Amino acid sequence: MNAAGVRAGVEGVPRWRPRVAGERIFVALDVPGREAAMALADRLPPELPGVKVGSVLFTRAGGDVVRELKGAGRRVFLDLKFHDTPQTVHGAVAAAVELGVDLVTVHASGGARMLEAAREARGEAPLTLLAVTLLTSLAGRDAAAIFGPGLLSLAEQVDRLADLAADCGMDGVVTSGEETARIKARHRESLLVLTPGVLPEWSRVDYRDQARVTTPREALERGADLIVVGRAIHGASDPAQAARRLLEEVQAVEVS
Ligand code: C5P
Repeated sequence: MNAAGVRAGVEGVPRWRPRVAGERIFVALDVPGREAAMALADRLPPELPGVKVGSVLFTRAGGDVVRELKGAGRRVFLDLKFHDTPQTVHGAVAAAVELGVDLVTVHASGGARMLEAAREARGEAPLTLLAVTLLTSLAGRDAAAIFGPGLLSLAEQVDRLADLAADCGMDGVVTSGEETARIKARHRESLLVLTPGVLPEWSRVDYRDQARVTTPREALERGADLIVVGRAIHGASDPAQAARRLLEEVQAVEVS
């Protein structure tokens, strides 16, 4: 048993790792529906295969858009952040396997039994399981109302949740750019780190709502294995050109 109170390392290494720069990028298809999602995906260069389907697009367009994206040769990250009873999450992950998605998110705070149910449902399927640590939107009074005042700092909460994810055999975690370096130092081989809230310096989109923003270079240099970029692509006047520029930027970063 470790500090998080669960049994230690189950498998120890992620089932999938990006092999080339383009595989590190997931473009969030945060657009109104199926048609817009397919139109955006069609404009992304083939060297950048990853797309993210979140709860808004999925609630509007369902499994059909996922199947269509897969049919178009895309790697699909289904970001539904499952957080439910172990039995229900088992069923949801089994459904994600049937749908043929490549990555899926669950909340680490669902607990060890829920995470283990997710892993069991994944079985031998080529599905990467990522655990969300703390939502980056949680801070200040919101966080204190949930965790109680003076219990653990947010950074310590993230550490704990990442330890739990590793102990339960998750392939990776989702953390803000601020925690990326620390989590990577703690779990270099055992967890992939996915960082959202990434905005290239050249992007002109309005990003004022994001508090903790990193550039692609900063995120990768801090140890992110994967980055999610949304508005900088779908909000650009020329998304195809923005995607190519992002790809070039990621290709230019030497990652140790
Ligand atoms: O901010 P941007 O438009 O680049 O958002 C990209 C995606 O990253 C969104 O789909 C959002 O749901 C996701 N995201 C996340 N965790 C955060 C911030 C954004 O999963 N902390």
